[in-house]
Formats: sequence, C-alpha cells, structure tokens
Amino acid sequence: MKSLSLGTHVFEFQLDTPWFELMDGPDVQKGKLNAIVRVINTGNLYDLRFELSGGVQVPCDRCLDDMTIEVDQKSQLFVKFGPEFFEESEDMIVVPEREGELNVAWFLYELIVFSIPLKHVHAPGKCNKTMMIKLKKHMAGPKDEEEAEVDFTDEEDFEAADDNDPVSGSAWED
Ligand SMILES: [Zn+2]
Repeated sequence: MKSLSLGTHVFEFQLDTPWFELMDGPDVQKGKLNAIVRVINTGNLYDLRFELSGGVQVPCDRCLDDMTIEVDQKSQLFVKFGPEFFEESEDMIVVPEREGELNVAWFLYELIVFSIPLKHVHAPGKCNKTMMIKLKKHMAGPKDEEEAEVDFTDEEDFEAADDNDPVSGSAWED
C-alpha cells in the first residue's frame, strides 16, 4: 500500500467459494461476490471504499438448508501508518509503518458477515421439507418429554381436585 501513489487506485476482486474456504471464517463458507476497493491516497492517510455485491450461501435458521442472501454493501475505512496496529475508531485504523501493508481480505469478510441479517430463514414454504421433517423428529424427543411432564402435572392437579371433591361426592351420596 505504501507504494501506491497519490490519488485513487481501484482494485477489483472476485470472492467465490474457494476464497471463502481460504478465509476459513466461521460464519460464511460459500458465496460469489464482486468486490471493488477504491484506495484514495490523500498523502497523510488512505481512504478505502469498499463495494460488495453478489450473494452468499448460509444455512437457513429453520431448515439448515443453504439459502442465498443478497449482499449489496458499501463501507469506508481510513487507514494511516503508525508504530503498531491500532483501531483508533470503528472506521479508522493504524497500520504498522514498517509493514506498509494492509490485508483487506478480513475487512471484506467482516463486511460480508455484517451484511447478513441476524435471523435468516427461507421465504414461507421455501424451506427444505425433508430437512424440516428430520428436524421435527429430532426435536420431538425432548419436546415430548416436556409435554409428558406437563401432562403429568396436569393429571396430578386433576387428581388433587378429585380428592378435594368429597364435598360434592357426599352431596351425591346424600
Ligand atoms: Zn429454510
């Protein structure tokens, strides 16, 4: 980056599934995006503008099948040189002068992760039905137990109510 002359430099990257594999991040492993990074060297700092467009595949929260999420994200980051790496603020970082390099891959990756909604599910009816059935079966175990417990409690309450019933019972006998 140090070698970049004053002015604007444009870099374009294709971020595909091999790239995600290389990044080996926990949140996104598949996708196909186009990234444009504009680096503006103003002389005392670097103004980086990221533009991401494309899509990533992440597991649906409901059926765990892959779903595509469109990514259309822009971000800006200021970089300047200093003695050591330091995040001065959310959009200003200091990079060691001796390195004079900035690996933008993680910024791109984080930007992608950031653009994915916290909760993401397929559109209604678009979930993988086979997967849903499997999940339901899987979830049936503990849920049934819970229900059984509830039923048991209900029964106890019912019995208790019966026990307290001699009043009406005796009324019947009378
Ligand atoms: Zn789904």
